[in-house]
Amino acid sequence: MADATDTKGAPLPPIRELTHARIPTAVGAFQLRLYANDVDEKEHLALVAGDIGDGESVLVRVHSECFTGEVVGSLRCDCGPQLARAIDLIAGEGRGVIVYLRQEGRGIGLADKLRAYNLQDEGLDTVDANLALGHGADDRDYTLAAAILHALGVRSVRLLTNNPAKVASLQANGLDVVERVPMGRFETAENAGYLRAKVERMGHLGGEGDRQGLPDA
Ligand SMILES: [Zn+2]
Repeated sequence: MADATDTKGAPLPPIRELTHARIPTAVGAFQLRLYANDVDEKEHLALVAGDIGDGESVLVRVHSECFTGEVVGSLRCDCGPQLARAIDLIAGEGRGVIVYLRQEGRGIGLADKLRAYNLQDEGLDTVDANLALGHGADDRDYTLAAAILHALGVRSVRLLTNNPAKVASLQANGLDVVERVPMGRFETAENAGYLRAKVERMGHLGGEGDRQGLPDA
């Protein structure tokens, strides 16, 4: 695992905290912090529970925005249940961070995400649909998440994810990932093909062997 001071590659892009506010929820209280940056001119967020303290072994979720899954409750993906589970777990622990990145649709934006859904209804899987629209299989970037975590004083993380690319990206950006905590599997009839493509074509974990870390619910 990388040492927290070993920032390989380019230095992290600067970010600026614009403001923060207390956000009480049914499962616990958070501070919501809003950040500006010069890379993509979007306002990324951190939902922080408790005191980060020494910054070691902090429970962290790096989550990418999904309007359809989180706001509308679409069953095409598993983003809504994943975010709810992360909020529950971090509130339950009383300390942790959800970094919320505004990169809808694995980074392709809402319009092309909806176009990709139409291609999927014609038979393409999620990867081929994105490729057909001229995007990569996954256009997400986690560099700004690393910058936000550094700004919060986080040094090492227990990362809530099924996605090895997130682990690799945070480590490449100087955060020590001391543990990967599986997110569980949130399968429905509508998203089964999507979840299969994530495992088979994008290297996500989340098969049967990955169910042990967290109960399905
Ligand atoms: Zn989603």
